[in-house]
Amino acid sequence: MNIILMGPPGAGKGTQAKRIAQSSKIPHISTGDMLREAVAAGTDLGLKVREIMEKGLLVPDDLMIDLVRERVGREDTKEGFILDGFPRTVQQAKALGNMLCDLGRKIDIVLLVNATEDEVVERISSRRVCLECGKVYNLLTLKPSVDNKCDEDGSELIQREDDRPETVRDRYRVYMEKTAPVIDYYSDNETVLLDINGSGDIDDVTREIMERLETL
Ligand code: AMP
Repeated sequence: MNIILMGPPGAGKGTQAKRIAQSSKIPHISTGDMLREAVAAGTDLGLKVREIMEKGLLVPDDLMIDLVRERVGREDTKEGFILDGFPRTVQQAKALGNMLCDLGRKIDIVLLVNATEDEVVERISSRRVCLECGKVYNLLTLKPSVDNKCDEDGSELIQREDDRPETVRDRYRVYMEKTAPVIDYYSDNETVLLDINGSGDIDDVTREIMERLETL
């Protein structure tokens, strides 16, 4: 099953994508994580995208399309994949359709996890990340045992540059302008579009997603 997980930044896509990937035994492909790894490793791609990401803007389509083409072409995606954070523009959606067509495959399901602007600002600006291992915490829902320290390795927790409230509002604006049209693009297609309310408890949202997927 080839799934796309869409929704505004902070709607809980990443958490839900990991859970679905685990239970369906398919790889979780997060373009945000791939880019953050490139930035941390200081690769050519990382150097190109660092500033764009810090500002909450979108990385150019051609770079993203090359990155995803290489990833979905790998062996481990044969039984399916869950794409998180891609496509974010109609051009990316069209390119994805073409690259999957070349592989004799298609997108089966688009899962839309929704949340309002105020909800995502509150959630994302409460997010903290371990400087050392990258583990993600949330001061509202997933607090570390000791204030500002990682449970795994005791390292300091920081707020990512793109998680600051003003940047989150910019990211939400970019989402409405560039990514919301992708939903219309898939509504016009043969893909199954599932609309899920992401504002509730994380476990309830997972349960709803699993139930909706099972009924297909
Ligand atoms: P995410 O973790 O998915 O919110 O992604 C973090 C940042 O990476 C975004 O704010 C963008 O700057 C960049 N990014 C991730 N995926 C894409 C994409 N498909 N197109 C353009 N930029 C992206």
